Amino acid sequence: MTFLAQALKIKDQTIAWRRDLHRHPELGFKEVRTAQIVADELTRLGMDVTTGVGKTGVVGMLLGAAETPVLLLRFDMDALRIQEETGAVYASQNPGVMHACGHDAHTAVGLSVARLLAARRESLPGTIKFVFQPAEELDGGAAHMIADGVLTKPTPDYVMGMHVWNERPVGWYGLTPGPSMAGADIFTVRVSGKGGHGAQPHITRDPILAVAHIVTALQSIVSRNVNPLDSAVVSVTQLESGTANNIIPQEAVFTGTLRSFKPEVGALIKDRFYTLIETIAGAMGCQAEIDFIKVTEPVINDPRLAALMGQVAAAVDPGAKVDTAFQTMGGEDFSLMMQTIPGCFMMVGSANPERGLDYGHHHPKFDIDEACLPYAVAILAQGAVEVLESGR
Ligand SMILES: [Zn+2]
Ligand SMILES: [Zn+2]
Repeated sequence: MTFLAQALKIKDQTIAWRRDLHRHPELGFKEVRTAQIVADELTRLGMDVTTGVGKTGVVGMLLGAAETPVLLLRFDMDALRIQEETGAVYASQNPGVMHACGHDAHTAVGLSVARLLAARRESLPGTIKFVFQPAEELDGGAAHMIADGVLTKPTPDYVMGMHVWNERPVGWYGLTPGPSMAGADIFTVRVSGKGGHGAQPHITRDPILAVAHIVTALQSIVSRNVNPLDSAVVSVTQLESGTANNIIPQEAVFTGTLRSFKPEVGALIKDRFYTLIETIAGAMGCQAEIDFIKVTEPVINDPRLAALMGQVAAAVDPGAKVDTAFQTMGGEDFSLMMQTIPGCFMMVGSANPERGLDYGHHHPKFDIDEACLPYAVAILAQGAVEVLESGR
């Protein structure tokens, strides 16, 4: 039986897992119930299971017929702080928390892939490390799992992961060789001046005016410093200051994000970012304190693995549209696992506009067409076998 036939046979189970997780979403590092379901299922499949990896992460080792090569398959489990508005029968029962990015689908796909591959362990040409990761959404889940040794004992030869993608229909697969998702930094900048009476600006140092100039100047980085043939984003997304009409405040604070695909572009943006903020704040008689956090590296697919997975997708799904030019400014912390190990991150089209299932990720009405799930399961299972075979 082909992997697709098997994936279609257990489709109801995949969907049941997805809906159950969707009903019971858990925020980053709070995926206790989810992790328990995952650990129970991997244990039932006869895997060697470790829990508490990177706080709430779960790792299951599937030993095949050969010890090496080792492939790491990663699925994320966390939900978002959003009040669900889908009205679905399987809508979130946890107020203010929602699986609005599709990580419920990823966990369900991961469990089904585990089931299919565990049934074939005697003929599996290597070892598969199933990694269920907490806190992908800006909380550093991948970094915590790496710190807890998920990339050692054994060190994987390859890493693969997936994301449902609601900007494309079911049957579309994004498998771009090279950069496909942006690296993301986040920042908080505190500009402090000297407060005072709104009627006596001459004896103050106005942080609001300084920040106004800074926010405007930051928009010159992409338009005037980055090569027009490269892509980057500088977004200021929050700005806060002041308490009254007649008070020049002591401080103004803004936050935002920087995105780019190439490490050298990321370094250029960061350099210009610091220079503009420090010099403009200084010129306006204020001081700037910059808190800068690297959240993700760019997702850069190994060209050989991306090509192999593209062939697998086309072979498994007769209606597959494999897109090798897809790129998004969205970030993904799986990139941290791809830093030193050849990897491939597959985007799986999950939208169905006719059924209204095409709201964007992180929208309160986000929902996917579950028809994509068995295909994702079959492609990952088949891809895992072929990647292991190719590495022997
Ligand atoms: Zn997300
Ligand atoms: Zn996501």
